[in-house]
Amino acid sequence: MSDFKLLINGKLVDGARTSNVVNPATEEPVAACPRASEAQLNEAVAAAKSAFPAWSAPPLDERKKALNAIADGIEANGAELARHLTQEQGKPIGDATGEVYGTAAFFRYFTMLDLPVKIIEDSEGKKVEAHRRPLGVIGAIVPWNFPMILMAFKLPPALLAGNTVVLKPAPTTPLTSLKLGELIKDILPAGVVNIVADENDLGAALTAHPDVRKISFTGSTATGQKVMAGAAGLLKRITLELGGNDAGIVLGDVNPKEAAPKLFQSAFQNSGQVCIAMKRLYVHESIYDEMCNELAELANNAVIGDGLKQGTQLGPLQNKMQFDKVKELIEDARKTGKIIAGGDTPEEKGYFIRPTIVRDITDGSRLVDEEQFGPVLPVIKYSDADDAVARANASPYGLGGSIWSNDKDKAYELATKMESGSVWINKHADLAPNIPFGGARFSGLGTELGEEGLAEFTQLKIINMAK
Ligand code: NAD
Repeated sequence: MSDFKLLINGKLVDGARTSNVVNPATEEPVAACPRASEAQLNEAVAAAKSAFPAWSAPPLDERKKALNAIADGIEANGAELARHLTQEQGKPIGDATGEVYGTAAFFRYFTMLDLPVKIIEDSEGKKVEAHRRPLGVIGAIVPWNFPMILMAFKLPPALLAGNTVVLKPAPTTPLTSLKLGELIKDILPAGVVNIVADENDLGAALTAHPDVRKISFTGSTATGQKVMAGAAGLLKRITLELGGNDAGIVLGDVNPKEAAPKLFQSAFQNSGQVCIAMKRLYVHESIYDEMCNELAELANNAVIGDGLKQGTQLGPLQNKMQFDKVKELIEDARKTGKIIAGGDTPEEKGYFIRPTIVRDITDGSRLVDEEQFGPVLPVIKYSDADDAVARANASPYGLGGSIWSNDKDKAYELATKMESGSVWINKHADLAPNIPFGGARFSGLGTELGEEGLAEFTQLKIINMAK
């Protein structure tokens, strides 16, 4: 038994078994979490399938009311959801609160969109219309770094378009999603949204299920490749938001003291566990030493600790596997670069790593080439900006990137040469629900958010009439 329940066919139910969710700041259990069996996953898909006709039939405005009601519910329970989020994920409570209210805002944003019939041609001989029809049951699969907001990239547009959903949170951060299920139960008709927590064992079954018409997936590139293969047999629709290795390129005209705090935040927010965190920083040789020193000072002064404690700036890594992976990359970077801040893990319990700055490191070392997804930033010296852009583009990933300069024209010119889904100028990782988001190359397939993101939850249908 657990205080947390799965949501299947409008009912809050126990899982086939329970296992603990661990607080990464203390390594102590937070709660026993119900875990679904494959039979329960199948029940969830069946419920979503039978709820689909009644949910998709009425006009869009009916569904907008439901999305607004969910946003109201999230806001009314904001403090409780934020506490669960900090306890399961590790992030500071202020950031968790921002994520929770941001989630409500994402639900509200989609209520402002419509899917009007578009007239493609209306001529003497014919009239051609483009309709957007819902797909059916959507499988939504979410990772552990932003359990709430990444769910909100998927649920509101999927539901608005008239689809029904089976949501699978990450096994180490299921609690906020299950709490959301308690709210949704009283707002949506049975089966429209089902929420199943697993032990990392149901993603493949959800992907391969014959009654699931689309998988909207956020997670690692390796798992995304499995999703693509799993969806191929039924030619299922997929949207994949995958890993990244975003480069920031700082030109020589930038004042290191002014830019360093923004660069630090871009790299270390959520302890670096952000798909669009700045994961490698290229700095012009003329300001390299000064920038390294500024970043090291910020890292040395950062307050790390339990996210529930007042004043904590950075929480722990979310899970032991990620903690071990980041430590391994730091050990490797000791051989290929020079650590000028951090590099160690505090004695006390919890998956903490002090923010780490590595200088005198370059492309070809693991920390620069791989996705660290943790609080460690390689700072790379360059002399020619076009060469820095070429090195940024040489990655198999292509999620985001940024150019930093006081020369707006030069920054814009370089931004046009960067080959990634998003490029920012004098900022990094600025996401909003109305701005389409997606990755190039190994960073994903398709788009989330904005009107384009909504369209991905629909089937385009053309009606072509002779006159
Ligand atoms: P992960 O790929 O290990 O897991 C993501 C989700 O997939 C989890 O819910 C997991 O249970 C599920 N899963 C596991 N095996 C599966 C399978 N065979 N089929 C279907 N689903 C399966 O990723 P993670 O470690 O939880 O998250 C970190 C990664 O996510 C990083 O690479 C990060 O860059 C990426 N990420 C990308 C974005 C983006 O929008 N591009 C956003 C956040 C995180």
